Amino acid sequence: MSLKDDLTTRIQAGGPMTLAEYMGICLMHPEHGYYATRDPFGAAGDFTTAPEISQMFGELLGLSLAQSWLDQGEQPPFILADLGPGRGTLMADMLRATKAVPGFHDAMQLCLVEASPHLRDVQRSTLTGQDVTWHDTIESLPDLPLFLVANEFFDALPIRQVVREGAQWRERLIGVKDDKLTLGLSEPMSLPMLGARLEDTKDGDIVEFSPVATMMAEAIGARIKTRGGAALIVDYGDWHAQGDTFQAVQGHKGTDPLADPGQADLTAHVDFEALAMATPSAYSRLTPQGVFLERLGVTARAQALAGNLKDDALEQHVAAHHRLTHPDEMGTLFKVLGFYPEGGHPPPGLEV
Ligand code: SAH
Repeated sequence: MSLKDDLTTRIQAGGPMTLAEYMGICLMHPEHGYYATRDPFGAAGDFTTAPEISQMFGELLGLSLAQSWLDQGEQPPFILADLGPGRGTLMADMLRATKAVPGFHDAMQLCLVEASPHLRDVQRSTLTGQDVTWHDTIESLPDLPLFLVANEFFDALPIRQVVREGAQWRERLIGVKDDKLTLGLSEPMSLPMLGARLEDTKDGDIVEFSPVATMMAEAIGARIKTRGGAALIVDYGDWHAQGDTFQAVQGHKGTDPLADPGQADLTAHVDFEALAMATPSAYSRLTPQGVFLERLGVTARAQALAGNLKDDALEQHVAAHHRLTHPDEMGTLFKVLGFYPEGGHPPPGLEV
């Protein structure tokens, strides 16, 4: 049975489904799910993430977390975690860069939170020789200080969308019509948790929210608040989510999210305010990725690496630096939010 047939059967049996249910099934269905079955990254795949563009990204994130660990008194043991580690490239770059930090590797326990069995295999081979444990959820991480990165993870978490109607909301739901998946609207309902959004929206406006993202931010922050640690959350999005940002990408191009379920990456912009409001820890100012990387010395690092390169390799390296930091590329669209213990300092690169 194809994923579209599977979805059609579910909808015929149980009625229209939320975008969150649809996203969850399309991305993680054990047989046909987008992440569950493939490695989508890189030029030959559907999209390219920052660690796949340049080793500098992971190196600088690793050093920022290692400095936070030093600043917090070098607790042993602690967890170094990656949430949604993709190919494992980010973690490999973090580990290489932090090797020289005295005591850091001896005190760390490496934990990867990954739902896709296929990508777990890819990560296992990227991180050969490392002592790694895999986890399905944040809750199952050992109860220790938590130093965590999440790059392009929160955008993959299922969202719900509602359309304002007076003081109520209609939810956008996926149904089936003439053998096609189509978008429709629920009956109007009251949603007390969106009370604040009645202040800044008008009739017809779409509001997105992700209950799963909120729960995860709370779980990460709770660990950091009670045990210490820091989190660097990097993604595209803004402080305040407004409008429809649900999108599908296939072969580096935008496509209809309902057209080919399981074959395209489905994402939505991250509502960083919702994550900041959910964490019981302190959180940093939301900072553009370009500014964050510049503060951590990406230009000096780029120059040092350029010294060993020539011709095509040098050209690619210069382009990668530009792509990560320039406001017209990933520099402004992508943002960084840090979590840290109350009364402490945000990880280097971020400000209070
Ligand atoms: N951080 C990586 C990959 C980002 S893609 C990079 O920067 O290259 C999103 C990653 O999150 C994939 O590894 C995907 O399998 C994983 N993922 C998505 N939803 C998840 C969930 N609910 N729980 C655990 N992992 C998830």
